[in-house]
Amino acid sequence: MKIELTPELEEMRAQVRRFTERELEPLAGEIDATGEIPQKAWDLMRDAGYLGMRLPEEYGGASASLSAMCLVLEELSRSHRVFTGLIDATSGLTPSAFVRHGSLEQRERYVRKLATGEMRAAFALTEPGAGSDSAAISTSATRADGGWIINGRKHFISSGHLADVVMVMTVTDAQKRARGGITALLVERNTPGFSVTRVDTTIGSAAWKLAELTFENCFVPDSAVMGKVGEGFKIAMESLTDGRMAVACCCIGAADRLLEMATAHAQQRVTFGKPLAERQAIQWMLADTAVDIATARALAYETLRQIEAGKNIGSAASMCKLYSSEMIGRVTDRAIQIFGGQGLIRGFPIERFYRDVRHYRIGEGTSEVHRMLIARDLLQTRC
Ligand SMILES: Cc1cc2nc3c(=O)[nH]c(=O)nc-3n(C[C@H](O)[C@H](O)[C@H](O)COP(=O)(O)OP(=O)(O)OC[C@H]3O[C@@H](n4cnc5c(N)ncnc54)[C@H](O)[C@@H]3O)c2cc1C
Repeated sequence: MKIELTPELEEMRAQVRRFTERELEPLAGEIDATGEIPQKAWDLMRDAGYLGMRLPEEYGGASASLSAMCLVLEELSRSHRVFTGLIDATSGLTPSAFVRHGSLEQRERYVRKLATGEMRAAFALTEPGAGSDSAAISTSATRADGGWIINGRKHFISSGHLADVVMVMTVTDAQKRARGGITALLVERNTPGFSVTRVDTTIGSAAWKLAELTFENCFVPDSAVMGKVGEGFKIAMESLTDGRMAVACCCIGAADRLLEMATAHAQQRVTFGKPLAERQAIQWMLADTAVDIATARALAYETLRQIEAGKNIGSAASMCKLYSSEMIGRVTDRAIQIFGGQGLIRGFPIERFYRDVRHYRIGEGTSEVHRMLIARDLLQTRC
């Protein structure tokens, strides 16, 4: 079943797919071998207009809609997850907060450079003592002459080690916390008192790194406040809605590619004198995967349509993220089963997808947190 976006977006899909297959896919092997993202990938993405695509045209972006960005992420995810990180660092949670809440000075300072990929941004909420319970953060910012002094530690921050600017969530009023006591502060690389104290890799591609960021009496001026003092939690949650839709579409793109590969393999691989594709056990796996993808796509595209129409979507972004991230787990598992031993061999894309997609059930809110949010919404609207 083909679930389409608008004709313009479908045309864009064809362009991104061509670009990904011809230009980016050849870099996937190098990324896996070195654990690094080559500069060439940034250059190609910049020249194609995908870096900073959500940023306003007046600042060198493409003023792209959330749907357009999600479509690009879906197509990039058919190749290698790390390509989506380049969009994250230039059009993701922090860059989109600049557009919604940034002062003129902040926009002038950062947005143009983010649009060209000259600058990269990260989003720092999670701490060793506060993950799912994000309102429990303890990184503090205390008032000082003309600014704020930050102390604390963040971890698991995507691209934190290469970011030129990080939007850091800090507690500015410990009594109010999520209700007006958390403030988003912009901290630039090389600010005294700010350091990257560890870089972690996960079971996924080594090129996707998570940084630990430490703040020791780190001073930032008043102009570093994103939005207003006390609005940080609201800004973070708003950004995360976009992030959830982005994750859902990344999962859909990866699943689509796996279905394509598994189908081709089932048609070509012969066992006991017949192609696998003629065996009912295999057909059912392919059928279940097709249903999974169609369901995830229908839910995500309809939610995107409602977001673009300015509707209140309630917990629909959580539903999209939850369903898609669990769906891709089932799909990768079936793909490995269909490929047999070959599916487990290092260097063959299937095992990389299997490792890479596991984080989708944890980052941007775990499955359990999204079930909590969906249930809360359900119970509130049915009471
Ligand atoms: C690849 C990746 C990239 C990330 N990038 C960023 C980033 O850029 N910026 C950032 O700020 N953070 C980032 N994170 C952090 C991510 O947001 C957290 O890992 C996530 O919110 C979960 O927090 P935690 O790891 O501390 O797990 P915990 O909160 O300790 O949870 C552990 C387990 O307990 C479950 N659990 C927790 N509370 C409940 C409850 N009340 N009921 C039932 N179950 C519960 C959780 O669902 C989970 O299964 C990233 C994480 C990953 C994996």
